[in-house]
Amino acid sequence: MDRRSPFSYRCGACGRCCHNQVISLSPAELLSIARAAGIATSAARERYAARRGSLLRFRADGGCAALDGTRCSIHSGRPLACRLYPLGLERTPDGDRFIRLEPAQDSVGRYGVDGAVSDYLADQGVDSALELADRYRPLIAAMRERIETLVDFDEVEPREFWRRAVAEALREANYDANRLIDALFDPDGVGAACASIAATIAAHLSILHAMIAATNNPAELAVAAILLAVSLGYSPAEVASAR
Ligand code: SF4
Repeated sequence: MDRRSPFSYRCGACGRCCHNQVISLSPAELLSIARAAGIATSAARERYAARRGSLLRFRADGGCAALDGTRCSIHSGRPLACRLYPLGLERTPDGDRFIRLEPAQDSVGRYGVDGAVSDYLADQGVDSALELADRYRPLIAAMRERIETLVDFDEVEPREFWRRAVAEALREANYDANRLIDALFDPDGVGAACASIAATIAAHLSILHAMIAATNNPAELAVAAILLAVSLGYSPAEVASAR
């Protein structure tokens, strides 16, 4: 589906879709969750996220960590996937494509064709959330460029280098320490907190660019670049083609 495709959806507020999902979080989304919850980003990461901040946390009973009964307790700062639902977004270098997802079991939501995909996206604030998330995308190219200055890929096998980075980035526990990832998912912790989300992101990006320039560990950069790409909805292969 594209933005002009017929689509509408009436949410029944049953909370069924807030169970047993895999929802990636970008740094901007984690920041939005923290602001909606009125807590610091380190606390939001602890309370609402898994995999170093890059996945929404679900409880042992299957419910999202932010679900309060059938209500989203962080609705104003909910992640992109929750804004899009029941649409899925496929991000490719050629543009974004939308997919109609199957309803959650016993969902009382109603699908229709009373509007277009673009109307639904506007109602849910998808484009502004996407725009904030994408401000982090140039960091992938910056990390990639820094790696190129540190690694001689005539000596180091590139496929093995990136294979290790992907495996480490997608590990669910027992991670290697990575200062860049810690900083990516904790803007408040690195001193970027400002009055608005947009200003915090601007300050955060400036701090992250300085950290990237000062990092001499290529593996640390590669793992952070992969995790950032995945958190933004791109495939790990995006890092290899980053410009
Ligand atoms: S963040 Fe809110 S909308 Fe998204 S799954 Fe959790 S409770 Fe549901």
